[in-house]
Amino acid sequence: MKPRECRARVTAVRALTSEILEVDLAMEDPAAFEFAAGQWISVPFGPKTVRAYTIASTPLQPRRLTLCADVAPGGLGSAWFRGLAPGAPVSFKGPLGGFVYTRADARRPLFVAEEIGIVPIRSIVTWLYATGLGRPATLVYWARDRSWLAYDAEFRSLARRYPGFAYHPVVAESPAASVDRLTPTVDGLVAYVAGGGETINRVRDVLMAKGLDRKAVKWEKFW
Ligand SMILES: Cc1cc2nc3c(=O)[nH]c(=O)nc-3n(C[C@H](O)[C@H](O)[C@H](O)COP(=O)(O)OP(=O)(O)OC[C@H]3O[C@@H](n4cnc5c(N)ncnc54)[C@H](O)[C@@H]3O)c2cc1C
Repeated sequence: MKPRECRARVTAVRALTSEILEVDLAMEDPAAFEFAAGQWISVPFGPKTVRAYTIASTPLQPRRLTLCADVAPGGLGSAWFRGLAPGAPVSFKGPLGGFVYTRADARRPLFVAEEIGIVPIRSIVTWLYATGLGRPATLVYWARDRSWLAYDAEFRSLARRYPGFAYHPVVAESPAASVDRLTPTVDGLVAYVAGGGETINRVRDVLMAKGLDRKAVKWEKFW
């Protein structure tokens, strides 16, 4: 779908932790919002001020979107997200972004998330397994400590149900060091990395040092 102005209404708010919040939106206009897993919406805060929030739910539910935010940064986006309550109207533009999985791509996906960078990857991975991914996939998910691993239980459950899904939650070493340790070969690999710019660069360096082409590292920079 081409990006357009949209309206929705908050139907539920959940605190996954004290600083990671989920919000459900019921679409009003359009009634169904078509997007690709991994895409985001842009919320306006003034003529030149916007904040991006990625859709945590999957395209299988086009009438109800879930957003998920880390509100610790504490700026105007975080304050807005923290203030959302059931019944609140939300205007946004979307869908936006090219951090999406191409199903026709025969390569083996390696997903790497730094903290709240998990949001697009949660949408992509959930969607892929819900619709039948016929090849192995790996998720390396880093957070400062276990309490920051939003959706951890969900990924553990997915890994139990789908032996082809290798899930590696990491707190003891850096994201780049984990990727280095857990990626013996980059043959036939495509990487999807989301989080901070520094982590994206370090993970890309590790993978390129093993011989992966720069273009085989797709990334979404949240901060
Ligand atoms: C494509 C895209 C998709 C995004 N999707 C999401 C999403 O799904 N969920 C979400 O929570 N955020 C997401 N973000 C980040 C979001 O748009 C805001 O930047 C974030 O909510 C902080 O906004 P703020 O106004 O509260 O803080 P600001 O005043 O804008 O930022 C304060 C400082 O915190 C840094 N920062 C921002 N986010 C983080 C973070 N998580 N960890 C560490 N430092 C950070 C900023 O670089 C800045 O230096 C996305 C960003 C982009 C570009």
